[in-house]
Amino acid sequence: MCPGLHEPGAHLSVGGTIGRRCITRHSPELRLLAYAVAARLAKVGNHRGVHAGADIDRLGVPRSRSRGLNVSAHIIDGRAVAAKLLHNIGRKTAQFTEVHGRRPCLAAVLVGDDPASQTYVRMKRNRCAEVGMESRYIELPSETTTAELVAEINALSADPTVDGILLQHPVPGHIDERAAFEAIAPWKDVDGVTMHSFAAMAFGENGFHSCTPGGILRLLDAYNVPLAGKNVVVVGRSPILGKPVGMLLLARDATVTYCHSRSRNLAGHVRNADIVVAAVGRPALIRGEWIKQGAVVMDAGYNPGNVGDVDYSGAAERARLITPVPGGVGPMTIAVLLEQTLSAAEATVSR
Ligand code: NAP
Repeated sequence: MCPGLHEPGAHLSVGGTIGRRCITRHSPELRLLAYAVAARLAKVGNHRGVHAGADIDRLGVPRSRSRGLNVSAHIIDGRAVAAKLLHNIGRKTAQFTEVHGRRPCLAAVLVGDDPASQTYVRMKRNRCAEVGMESRYIELPSETTTAELVAEINALSADPTVDGILLQHPVPGHIDERAAFEAIAPWKDVDGVTMHSFAAMAFGENGFHSCTPGGILRLLDAYNVPLAGKNVVVVGRSPILGKPVGMLLLARDATVTYCHSRSRNLAGHVRNADIVVAAVGRPALIRGEWIKQGAVVMDAGYNPGNVGDVDYSGAAERARLITPVPGGVGPMTIAVLLEQTLSAAEATVSR
C-alpha cells in the first residue's frame, strides 16, 4: 500500500482527472486551468519528495501525448512507487552497512556488447550506487562459451562478498542461457531466474520473485487493486514475465487466463478481463476498444519508440487504472531487484 497516492486530490492529472472527475469533456478553459495547476504542483512536488511529486510524475506520460487524449483513467505512477521503495531500501541499506561493516553487493554479469543490455546494466548499477549498495560489474566478450560463463557465475555463487547475482538477459545465441542461470546459487538469485526460484514461487514458498512480475504485484497493491476473484488476462507466457506474473496473481486468488501467440480470440479474452497484464513485446497489440470499461491495465511491454503493448490512448478512455509506457511497470523492476539484493544480504549475515 502506498499512502499518499490515495489521498484526496491525488488524482489530478494533465488531460485526465481532477479528484475523480474526468476533465477532458469540460471546457478548454477548465483544461487549461488543470494544466496550470498541474504544472504548479509539479514545481512544488519537486521540492516535496516522492509523494508530492507522485501525481505529477504520474504524468510520466509525456505531455504532448497526454494533451488532447480523452483520458479518463487514473494513471499508475510507477516512478513514484519505485522511488518510495528505493528510498526505504536506501534507509535499510545504510542500517545494514553500519551494523555489518560492509555494503550489500550485487554482481552484474554482461556478455557481449548489446547496447540495450549495456544501458540496462548501467541503470541497475546507478541505482545500486544511489541506495548505497556495492555493485560489481563482470563484462565478458561475445565469444564467451557456456562453460566459461558458468565457471564465472559459479565463482560468484561461491564468493562470500557477493549477495546477489544478475545475469543480464539475453545472452548471445550460442550460449545455453538456462545452464548459465542455473549456476546462480538460489540464495543469490535476486533476479528470480532460476528453476529453484520459479518452483518456490509456484509452491508459495519463500524465494525470490522474477523482478518485473514482482513489481507488477507491488503496483497493484500500491493502488489498492482487489485481486481475489477477479478475471485476469495475462497476454504472454515467457518464463521471466508472463508465466510468473500469472502465478503470483493466482496465488492472490485471481482467476487467471493466459493468452499467447496461439490463442484464439484474444480480443474476446481481453474484453472479459477485470485486469489485463500485457507482456508480449508487440507495439499496441492490445486495442483500446477491447478493454472492459473500468478495467485495470498493466502494460509491461516496452517497444521501440517508448511504445507499450497496449494502445494507450484508446485503453485510457475505458480503463479505471492504467500504466503508462514509460513510467509504469518499468521503474519497478530495478526497485524489486535491489529490494531482493538487500534481503539476500540480510539472509547471508543471519546464517
Ligand atoms: P518474450 O519472451 O518474447 O515473450 C513474448 C510472449 O508474447 C510469448 O509468450 C508469445 O507467445 C506472446 N506473443 C507473441 N505474439 C503474440 C500475439 N500476437 N498474441 C498473443 N501473444 C503473443 O518476451 P518477454 O521477455 O516476456 O517480454 C515481453 C515484453 O515485456 C517486451 O516488450 C519486453 O521488452 C518487456 N519487458 C519489460 C520489462 C520491464 O522491466 N518493464 C522486463 C521484461 C520484459 P508464445 O509463447 O506463443 O510465443
